Amino acid sequence: MVTVKEAFGESVKILERAGVEDPAFEVSIMLEDLLSLPKGAEMLTPDAVLTDEQLSVLKSAAEKRAGGYPLQYIIGSWEFFGRKFFVGDGVLIPRPETELLCECVMKFFSRRKPPKIVDLCSGSGCVAVTLEKEINGADVTAVELYDGAYAFLERNAKYHGSGVKTLQRDALEPFGEFDCVVSNPPYISKEEMASLQKEVTFEPETALLGGEDGLDFYRAIAKNWAPHIVSGGLIAFEIGETQGAAVEGILKENGYFAVSVWTDYAGLDRIVTAMKE
Ligand code: GLN
Repeated sequence: MVTVKEAFGESVKILERAGVEDPAFEVSIMLEDLLSLPKGAEMLTPDAVLTDEQLSVLKSAAEKRAGGYPLQYIIGSWEFFGRKFFVGDGVLIPRPETELLCECVMKFFSRRKPPKIVDLCSGSGCVAVTLEKEINGADVTAVELYDGAYAFLERNAKYHGSGVKTLQRDALEPFGEFDCVVSNPPYISKEEMASLQKEVTFEPETALLGGEDGLDFYRAIAKNWAPHIVSGGLIAFEIGETQGAAVEGILKENGYFAVSVWTDYAGLDRIVTAMKE
């Protein structure tokens, strides 16, 4: 008979040995999400006995995690802006910094009429769904090219009962007319790809690699979409921490003004916004 406390301790050890940064936090999430135990069961009901099935689910999760596989993929979802988004192989895991991208867009439109927004390289749809939910009357279209990610985008848009329109197509081929283009495109450079954190290597390269210098998508999106953004409209990007000046330059060259670079919780450049001339 194995108790919650024993199983918890055993799994924490496995993760610890593998060098996982916060093993107790991660195992606690596994107990809650995979074994359907109440939050904090390791403290509330340490002596409860686990079934064989629960034990084997936990063991296999801990082993996968010890191999570097992301916790978010193991539990199959992650929270973004207070909402749950399904994730798994083939889609980028929502990052807390990306909430700032949403906040910048929300702030811009807080004193304007409800915008028509297109979210490019939408992935899980965390940005598109958040904007549609948080901006009253927003009309949001989400564009994603790859099959794996697109399936999650559709699922998440439906799960939240959002009115987000999903389109499976190339983000670099523009259409329509929008008040806002928003994107967290792939922005890792070739060189940085070689030194990614182990967990990130399980995420799709198509969501990470932004060409030789990481800037390919900013160049192409800024240029191709410029004629499709209304005058006075907004373009908003998430960027890599070293890319602020370069993306500012790209935007200025392509007919945008009022460029602002915003920092994240770590004080690093993370978001660039600009208005269309
Ligand atoms: N922020 C992600 C990372 O650091 C990169 C996401 C992206 O390329 N858009 O791994």
